[in-house]
Amino acid sequence: MADLGNITPFMDAASKVKGIKKVQVVLPIARKSGNVTTLLVGDDLALRSSLTSPVGYDREMIQLLHKHTEFIEDSGNIQFPYAKFCQEISNIDKLSLIWGIYKSTYDTLGGERSFTCPKEECKHEFKDIIHLDDLIHEDTYVPWDKTMMIKSGEGEDATEQECEVPFHQYSHTVVIEYDNFVYEFAARLPSIQNNNIVLGRISIDVLQQNLEKIGSIFTRPQQMALLTKAVRLSAKDNSFAPAETSNVDEILASFQTSIPFVVAEEFFVKYGEEFDKYVPKYYKKMACPICGNTFDHNVDLEIEFFRRSLGLI
Ligand SMILES: [Zn+2]
Repeated sequence: MADLGNITPFMDAASKVKGIKKVQVVLPIARKSGNVTTLLVGDDLALRSSLTSPVGYDREMIQLLHKHTEFIEDSGNIQFPYAKFCQEISNIDKLSLIWGIYKSTYDTLGGERSFTCPKEECKHEFKDIIHLDDLIHEDTYVPWDKTMMIKSGEGEDATEQECEVPFHQYSHTVVIEYDNFVYEFAARLPSIQNNNIVLGRISIDVLQQNLEKIGSIFTRPQQMALLTKAVRLSAKDNSFAPAETSNVDEILASFQTSIPFVVAEEFFVKYGEEFDKYVPKYYKKMACPICGNTFDHNVDLEIEFFRRSLGLI
């Protein structure tokens, strides 16, 4: 293409279009709000070209979400530095941003969807369109509300106060006893960065196998590694010295090779009791046009976005 030198009047006019369509979103875990702007045709190409590698796709999507998000702060609207964005925005908040980008770009989930009335004596099949606004309800988001006891002062003047703590500084200890062993997991809500780091440690072949065999990106041990900041193992009879690690490679390797099945099962139950309520619930309230029966239709926005990028919708 010819070098246009200074910005031409047309390019100047064209650049004014891109910031117009803004959608306001809430990030319940980072406890922030922001504006998300519409996808441009160049963004779509970047996503498509990264689809051969899931970690590449994830990285491309993070860059895209970063580029299209400005945060609403008291001092005005700002774009976070990339590193801060990855560390201080949770992987759950990513869904809010995807919702916003979807709404500003397409407004609907694309095409008519097929539904079947779940009522046994009806089972009527019908089609409907899902608008992004249909998916948000009063119970969709649960804002982050964890506190920790923080010490201040020294000696006799020391006081302990219950303080709100950002999600990326918080961990919840999950203790699981197994035979003579005691596992102590420091469980967390992962940030965008944590998710991408674990994704980057898994080969493309393994990721593809996971998607084909279990329909999700991570296996259970990989998922567990993502949700764990650190782990400590000790013996009740002190037959070995307690050992601990917060190294992601070590955590991933040990979870994949030597965590007993029942320990993992118990971990997910206890993790869920602490953190499951924060996972956003996107669903549309459907009404059967024949019998009037109402039911909820759940939507996984990340998978929707992935399928749309692949051109499957
Ligand atoms: Zn019905």
